[in-house]
Amino acid sequence: MTRYDMIVIGSGPSGRRAAIQAAKLGRSVLVAENRLRVGGVSVHTGTIPSKTLRETVLNLSGWRERGFYGLAYRVKKDIEGKDLGARLTKTLDYEIDVLEHQFARNGVDTIAGVARFLDPNTVEVTPHGGEAVAYQADKIVIAVGTRPFRPQHIPFDDHRVVDSDSLVSELRVPRSLAVVGAGVIGLEYATIFSALDVPVTIIEPRKNFLEFIDREIIEEFVHELRKRGVNFRLGCKLAQVEFDAQGWPVSVLDDQRRIRSDMLLYAAGRIGATDSLSLEACGLAVDDRGRLAVDPETFQTSVPHIYAAGDVIGFPSLASTSMEQGRIATCHAFGAPLMPAPRFFPYGIYAVPEISTVGLTEEQVREQGIPYEVGIARFRETSRGHIMGLQSGMMKMLFCLTDKRLLGVHIVGEGATELIHIGQAVLNLHGTLDYFVQNTFNYPTLAEAYKIAALDAFNRMPLD
Ligand SMILES: Cc1cc2nc3c(=O)[nH]c(=O)nc-3n(C[C@H](O)[C@H](O)[C@H](O)COP(=O)(O)OP(=O)(O)OC[C@H]3O[C@@H](n4cnc5c(N)ncnc54)[C@H](O)[C@@H]3O)c2cc1C
Repeated sequence: MTRYDMIVIGSGPSGRRAAIQAAKLGRSVLVAENRLRVGGVSVHTGTIPSKTLRETVLNLSGWRERGFYGLAYRVKKDIEGKDLGARLTKTLDYEIDVLEHQFARNGVDTIAGVARFLDPNTVEVTPHGGEAVAYQADKIVIAVGTRPFRPQHIPFDDHRVVDSDSLVSELRVPRSLAVVGAGVIGLEYATIFSALDVPVTIIEPRKNFLEFIDREIIEEFVHELRKRGVNFRLGCKLAQVEFDAQGWPVSVLDDQRRIRSDMLLYAAGRIGATDSLSLEACGLAVDDRGRLAVDPETFQTSVPHIYAAGDVIGFPSLASTSMEQGRIATCHAFGAPLMPAPRFFPYGIYAVPEISTVGLTEEQVREQGIPYEVGIARFRETSRGHIMGLQSGMMKMLFCLTDKRLLGVHIVGEGATELIHIGQAVLNLHGTLDYFVQNTFNYPTLAEAYKIAALDAFNRMPLD
């Protein structure tokens, strides 16, 4: 039986980073991936497809230019599914090619097939249409990710009633869209299609959504979406789905309201893809959502030589954090030195408009009883904002009143997911308001908003 130093199950962001790190440490490593090509959910159905779709929609619809040329401005008049698909295919092919090259260059072995445990050190891989082969390893990383949650009572047909996987596998522009679940995935797709002028209704059982985001940012976001005609049905549960005479799905809510739409996207949760792993053979068990528990510092499961990383361990379920988890797991497994992870990581939500945030929200600052001041900048106050024709977008910064420490940065609007990294650097380096007040920023840039927001807070803070 072939023996490796490490076997990684799953080739998404966490598996890929875990494997490459092992190879960099001079270890032999095998990656088993049940799709025909590497990349995981991130490349095939999640992060990259949704971000490519967003970019395509913003380009073809002329979204970023409408501030100047009016709401009717379009780069392409009739945008169809095939227009959205063309760019996606090219982007994914390129992305996969880069990954395959990265594995090959680093001497990482890969095998396409479903992996399962035979015992705590043996993994059997069954290739598609082939014979099962068993491999042994000293260390194993479970990086199998998640798949969309598909409850029994939702009549998925992957054309009119879809989840986030089937939405991208058969791209079309619906005449209207109902989205169940105001989580990150639901909101991204809801707002992407709304940017194409598709009428959208968002159904969410909770009264609030994205509760980990600063409330003022959400208020601004909701205001923007309502201006565009997006309907919110908050505090309403989807009771059942019927089909009308034309075959369109009708979402029946628990308050008896009915929403007829050309497409229904069910985006209310994901579950760990652990059912095919035969975890009982290695002594591990999952929770009711198929997720594994790990030590949050080392990513070790309760079986010390088996690690788990990425979405299969739950929050925050981001490609960005998954990559770090995979890398840390491998370093720990082989005793490589590790720096402690910084306290704050950024969160990016690629809705239209995008949201990005790092550090404490105003609600958390208040809960912790930290004396604070807030600074706000509107993108329309910056010259770059004028040049770009931006009519919305804001940055909110929170500073501690006693030592002027930066506590958090929250942005909604164009470029938020890029801009946030300035705030992240200052925050994790324990910087203060002085950094923003004393430094010169390129002009004209949206980053200038940092200076404006910091000065806004400074002007309201008591003099030393
Ligand atoms: C629509 C959508 C948009 C997203 N947007 C973003 C974003 O903008 N930014 C961001 O940071 N994150 C985003 N995410 C989240 C991101 O995709 C995930 O956090 C990330 O993919 C998790 O990586 P992972 O390492 O857990 O593996 P995954 O990417 O989940 O891949 C796991 C792989 O393991 C394979 N596998 C499962 N079981 C087995 C088995 N038994 N044997 C072999 N292989 C197996 C799976 O088929 C899969 O290919 C998005 C997710 C979705 C769904």
